[in-house]
Amino acid sequence: MTQSTTRTGRHYAQMETGPMTDWPDYTVSLPGLEIPGKLFIKDTLNLTGCEISINAMPPGGAIPFYHAHRQNEEVYLFIKGRGQLQVDGDTLEVREGSIVRIDPDAQRIWRNHSDETLVYIIIQTKADSLEQYSADDGLILDTAPAWA
Ligand code: ZN
Repeated sequence: MTQSTTRTGRHYAQMETGPMTDWPDYTVSLPGLEIPGKLFIKDTLNLTGCEISINAMPPGGAIPFYHAHRQNEEVYLFIKGRGQLQVDGDTLEVREGSIVRIDPDAQRIWRNHSDETLVYIIIQTKADSLEQYSADDGLILDTAPAWA
């Protein structure tokens, strides 16, 4: 059974989820619902602005229901394999390198109709919540690099 490990410091949390080939072993248990091949990482890393899951769906796998969200948009980053993502009736072919953003109220469902594992990451964040980013939010510091 794959078990993630963590390391925390004053201002960080590091998580090891193992190689992607082990990700199918994770399972999310929700009330009345078991989702194989999924691991939520928000609580482990103490994320405060988004939820992220790592996912691995076997060949022939499919999410058995449509879902939408109340306030969160989602970004699906496909990092290995091929599959299909359906959004409000539009079927999108997705593969390694595909990135799809979905509005909260869109009806979505996806499947792996290929013969290899589909590996992807889902980032869930409140729509219209981002106020500053990249150069507007980042600060370049004068601290000299000091590698151990
Ligand atoms: Zn969702």
